Amino acid sequence: MAEAPARRTVLRALTATGAATVVAFDPRTRGWAATGTPGTGRTAVPPLDGTLTTDPAALDAAADDYGHHVSHRPLAVLRPGSVDDVVAMVRFCHAHRLPVAPRGQGHGTFGQAQVAGGLVIETATLDRIGPLSADGTSVTVGAGVKWSDLTRATLAHGRTPPVLTDYLELSVGGTLAVGGLGGQSHRHGAQVDTVTALDVVTGAGERLHCSRTRRRDLFEATLAGLGQCSVIVGATLALVRAPDTVRSYLLPYDDLETFLDDQRRLAEERRFAYLEGQVTTDASGAFRGCVLEAVAYGPPAGPAPDDTALLAGLSHRAGGATVSDLGYYDFLDRLAPAVAALKESGVWGYAHPWLNLLIPGDAVAAVAGTLLDDLTEADLGAGLVLLYPLAGERLTTPLLRGPAGPVPYLLALLRAVPADDTDAVRRLLAANRRAYDVVVAAGGTQYPVGSVPFTRADWRRHYGDAWPRLAAAKRRYDPRGLLVPGRGIF
Ligand SMILES: Cc1cc2nc3c(=O)[nH]c(=O)nc-3n(C[C@H](O)[C@H](O)[C@H](O)COP(=O)(O)OP(=O)(O)OC[C@H]3O[C@@H](n4cnc5c(N)ncnc54)[C@H](O)[C@@H]3O)c2cc1C
Repeated sequence: MAEAPARRTVLRALTATGAATVVAFDPRTRGWAATGTPGTGRTAVPPLDGTLTTDPAALDAAADDYGHHVSHRPLAVLRPGSVDDVVAMVRFCHAHRLPVAPRGQGHGTFGQAQVAGGLVIETATLDRIGPLSADGTSVTVGAGVKWSDLTRATLAHGRTPPVLTDYLELSVGGTLAVGGLGGQSHRHGAQVDTVTALDVVTGAGERLHCSRTRRRDLFEATLAGLGQCSVIVGATLALVRAPDTVRSYLLPYDDLETFLDDQRRLAEERRFAYLEGQVTTDASGAFRGCVLEAVAYGPPAGPAPDDTALLAGLSHRAGGATVSDLGYYDFLDRLAPAVAALKESGVWGYAHPWLNLLIPGDAVAAVAGTLLDDLTEADLGAGLVLLYPLAGERLTTPLLRGPAGPVPYLLALLRAVPADDTDAVRRLLAANRRAYDVVVAAGGTQYPVGSVPFTRADWRRHYGDAWPRLAAAKRRYDPRGLLVPGRGIF
């Protein structure tokens, strides 16, 4: 299984500056060297189609993420030129017991895609978007494809992934490793629920195809599996008919419970194609109100929106609705102008100790109320609060751990504080943990894209009755425990 040390091999590795070099690995010192031909005691890495680099800038970038408050430096970064490169390097790491973490767009907030002293596999080069199936209901893509690129490609055929995250510049592999939730989740579940097959490389470097009918254990251990059992290299994703335009409704509420009641009703009725919501706060962080965001898809994915029918029976503030029509992709990409502004102002580079919680529907008013009552300006910084319902019956992926009940809620405190304010980050991490404990006591859990300090025991509890299957898959597919160790799950 393991790649035999191949001294005869000369590796072509390009550093970030583009200079050709040779990279060797010394198993005794665990040092990777951009030196000449491997000498005594050094093992050449396998020949690659892509590049393996130890360039300091590449290592620094791989030691950072959107959270900007955790940093673990890898020893090397692989930019695969092919899936074979992933196989070769995972086998190499397996042989030398080096930890490995795949990294999509690095938008975790807690070092999720980092690996101290190991190899980061940047998947961005695995960017192939295959042709749509003959009936247009699926497409097979490389794990490094961004949802923005995928959606633009499928829209050329009038098709769209059914569920999209609010921000589209995330990789397919990255969101399938966590779940992938969005405003369409109350209808279609998470992105992982829309996957029909996966192409993966296990922790032992074996390339395998899996689906609900083939190697189901691996399929289910990989979707929302936080990269623990395999590196996703490709995925077959469901597609649905796309609308040309959508009608967006922003409905203001002064009262949290009324807002939640209307959201729950809309989620149960599936009246809209998309349903989310935000809590608004004043300058001191105090609750000011909520805005329900509901979107109806127009033809050919839905009927022409009928305002009267769509808003019937809702209790938002009278006369406060903002209604707008926009192109479907413009709607999906609605965050782009705000992201550009955040980058311009520097806030994009702030620390983001995010808190993402999944709360049972029958507890959400009490729990969210308590957490929001305690919120101060310092707790949120330049961030915002999302609060929206999901559909329990549509969340079918075993490792995406949600609370029981028909309409669980996602509550996300998207905190942003200056990256050099380490005291604030420490305080917010502790606050995240306290909030998580409150949510667990109410039957909820976390959506593990945020920054909640977690022990191994917490992970066991998190996975609950799915733990034995995950642990068995880990033993089987990553027997040396090398994949994504930074999560601290095993
Ligand atoms: C601005 C912003 C908006 C967001 N909006 C949403 C949203 O609306 N809905 C939502 O659900 N989430 C959202 N997220 C969270 C996001 O989905 C996750 O953080 C996701 O994992 C990031 O994708 P990425 O490509 O950056 O992955 P990375 O951060 O690079 O990796 C995340 C994790 O996945 C693993 N991983 C990455 N690629 C692979 C692979 N090919 N195979 C196996 N494991 C892999 C990594 O090792 C790591 O553990 C948002 C995050 C940000 C920063």
